[in-house]
Amino acid sequence: MKPVSFLGLGAIGWPMAVHLAARGSLTVWNRTVARAAEFASAHGARMVTTPREAASGADIVMTCLPTSREVETLLDGPDGLEQGFKSGALLIDCTSGDPGSSRRIAERLAGKGVAFADAPVSGGVSGAEAGTLTVMVGSDRATFERARSTLSAFGERIRHVGPVGAGHAVKAVNNALLAVNLLAVGEGLAALVKAGVSARSAVDIVNASSGRSFVSEALVPERVLSGRWPRTFRLALLDKDVGIARTFLHEAGVSGPLLDLAGRLLGEAREQLEEGADHAEVIRLIEQRAGVEIRG
Ligand code: NDP
Repeated sequence: MKPVSFLGLGAIGWPMAVHLAARGSLTVWNRTVARAAEFASAHGARMVTTPREAASGADIVMTCLPTSREVETLLDGPDGLEQGFKSGALLIDCTSGDPGSSRRIAERLAGKGVAFADAPVSGGVSGAEAGTLTVMVGSDRATFERARSTLSAFGERIRHVGPVGAGHAVKAVNNALLAVNLLAVGEGLAALVKAGVSARSAVDIVNASSGRSFVSEALVPERVLSGRWPRTFRLALLDKDVGIARTFLHEAGVSGPLLDLAGRLLGEAREQLEEGADHAEVIRLIEQRAGVEIRG
């Protein structure tokens, strides 16, 4: 494998980087240095302390940060990525970012002879651990072909969806659907349980019927019915994704009242839950308001 650097060892970045480390020469950088040090010693990677060092000598640099804002910030300054890139390098941004920022980043890097692809992922932490993520890539065709084999380290379905920014747009719409589903499934199940229906039976029937979704098939059984509530994907990040989708719809001239409402409800939920809360915990708030527990 050509030299690859990975920046952003968060909940999903870490297991993605584990697959890259298993393939060969990997350099890692993380804002909290101790996390990069832990990764380097556990997975035989090289650790650096500045984004510039991460870019230096790398053919491919990958980022996985909360938003495009952090990606742009990492490019800046004397220790920024931009100072380290060699001409001909490729930046693959796996952040669930926003299309406008990515177009700006691509333009900025093109002037330095550096290619760019937005390549957000779907499949969650468990998909990252299993190496079965779906990756949606926004770039020109040649850049996609260059990125594909590196992305296959953790991706099972790797699709070119359009020019720079298109990957982020598809990801934002996908996660907006997740948010709408989460809220609607929570509301419906709360009412059914209050009316005396067993939560398990209701979920089984929905999953054998036309209302089923990832939320009803995976999230609710694994987190809500079990009462386990693991924290793998922060509510703050889903809220950010809905915000990106709302802007995307607005710019496309498509009215999105459902997404506007989902955005308002997620914003309220964030105010009531702690910053580290998982996205599925929105259903906990629905339970609290309804005075019911959806278990089974
Ligand atoms: P986390 O919050 O777990 O991790 C965020 C990472 O970004 C950490 O490495 C953190 O460093 C770093 N970071 C945060 N702020 C800054 C900053 N200002 N400057 C530099 N680095 C920073 O997020 P996830 O790993 O869950 O998500 C990363 C991206 O992947 C997001 O865009 C998310 O929407 C997307 N995603 C997440 C999924 C999931 O299931 N978790 C699923 C699909 C997509 P530090 O260790 O110092 O805090």
